[in-house]
Amino acid sequence: MQRVYNFSAGPSVLPLEVLEKAQSELLCYGDSGMSVMEMSHRSKAYGEIIESAEALLREVMNIPENYKVLFLQGGASLQFAMIPFNLSKSKKSDYVNTGNWSSVAIKEGKRFSDINIVASSEDKNYSYIPELDKSKFTPDADYFHYTMNNTIYGTRFREYPDAGDVPLVCDMSSSILSEVYDVSKYGIIYAGAQKNIGPAGVTVVIIREDLIGHAVPGTPVMLDYKTHAEKGSMHNTPPTYGIYLAKLMFEWIKSKGGVAEIQKINEAKANMLYDAIDESKVFTAHVQNKKDRSLMNVPFFSKSEEIDKNFIKICTANGLVTLSGYKTVGGMRASLYNGMPIEGVKLLVEQIKKFDKENQ
Ligand SMILES: *Cc1c(COP(=O)(O)O)cnc(C)c1O
Repeated sequence: MQRVYNFSAGPSVLPLEVLEKAQSELLCYGDSGMSVMEMSHRSKAYGEIIESAEALLREVMNIPENYKVLFLQGGASLQFAMIPFNLSKSKKSDYVNTGNWSSVAIKEGKRFSDINIVASSEDKNYSYIPELDKSKFTPDADYFHYTMNNTIYGTRFREYPDAGDVPLVCDMSSSILSEVYDVSKYGIIYAGAQKNIGPAGVTVVIIREDLIGHAVPGTPVMLDYKTHAEKGSMHNTPPTYGIYLAKLMFEWIKSKGGVAEIQKINEAKANMLYDAIDESKVFTAHVQNKKDRSLMNVPFFSKSEEIDKNFIKICTANGLVTLSGYKTVGGMRASLYNGMPIEGVKLLVEQIKKFDKENQ
């Protein structure tokens, strides 16, 4: 077996220890005599798994008591609709447009609500985080939506937007658990699992209790947060195996000393890579403003597509895979999620330095 270093933006690398643990329990979980995949979600054994997943997430993210944790399906993309279904009291909301996923969220939100785009970085291919001018905010908006980390463009917010009493709603799909966040600042945090939590198929929603129970008339039962909050994410069959793997991932984070320690490793990994790109004469980072740079996704490119392709080919031959950039940015994109070991980043940095010397 030859495992590679997988820089995919998602679904993405999981820690080897997590996969090995899952492997060791694959055929028989505890003394149940069966795999977690085969278990009734109403069984005692599974009840313990989902409860433990929630408790661990609460612990590592320091989630206050007055928030519910939901394990849903439909990806972050379904949240783009669920949020307006549940929060659109006055049909006015504020959005920040910092990339592809923000734009998709805005497009979906417009079907339900009058959307005010308070700031956008579209003018420079989303290569920076725009300044937020409070005078442009809607004081009585139903919510204020933004994307914490822009997976495709490699930018990230460093400060919490100050929307006053308006609930902050944040898409944390590609940065949840990568650095310490203050959950109490938010109305809703949501994240598709396939970047930093586990396999695709689970969506984590962390929601302040007072925001539950106000879905607009006609909201489908499955899209009402109340349905899932009242039933402990067990209204219907939850994505059982994905939640089990998420539990293993949360355990792994805890075993590493928690999110604060993981953040230090992530900063070390990202700094190492950005330094190599900044020092190189061949490569340029898509995001030049250091303050705006993502810890998780690092897009960079050379002066030609041909050089990019050649570099990707060399990396692939050396076990560093899935480095092609997204079509709207081009070049390369290295995703450095929690599961990416620092050794993988060191090897990528070595390839950058070598390539730089040979191609000047
Ligand atoms: C991947 C991603 C999405 C889309 O997630 P799905 O689970 O595929 O719907 C949305 N937002 C961000 C920030 C992402 O990285």
